[in-house]
Amino acid sequence: MLGRKPKEMRLPGGFLREILDHAHEGRPNEICGLIAGQGGQAVKLYRTTNDDPNPRVRFNVEPMELLDALREMEEKGWELLSIYHSHPASEAYPSATDVGLCHYDNAVYIIVSLAYRAPQVRAFTIDGDLVTEVDLIIDEDGVPTRAA
Ligand SMILES: [Zn+2]
Repeated sequence: MLGRKPKEMRLPGGFLREILDHAHEGRPNEICGLIAGQGGQAVKLYRTTNDDPNPRVRFNVEPMELLDALREMEEKGWELLSIYHSHPASEAYPSATDVGLCHYDNAVYIIVSLAYRAPQVRAFTIDGDLVTEVDLIIDEDGVPTRAA
């Protein structure tokens, strides 16, 4: 595997708003998507379809959409920086299912929770059974702020 685990994840404010919009639109189901990066910088967000048969509590990126996105990333010299998904009714922490299904050890998992009055957004790396929180830095027009 190439690459070390990121300790922080920088996300443009526009990408965060896109993820939050997607999460709200998808309620009560979980939504999911991918973020491509170049040199650790987020460059493109892909909204993907959650085709899990039990979408209220699980997600699975639709395989053809995943393949298409990964192919484009390879063509452009990008990497799979992040996989995001929502938890409509539970906290923004990887579920046992998320940990069990994780196949991209170098990607940062961004989870949006809509369970509380204000959305929670947190980021993690998942390595086997080991879940590590990553600092999520929101970059607004070049001005980074730490996600709440
Ligand atoms: Zn989850």
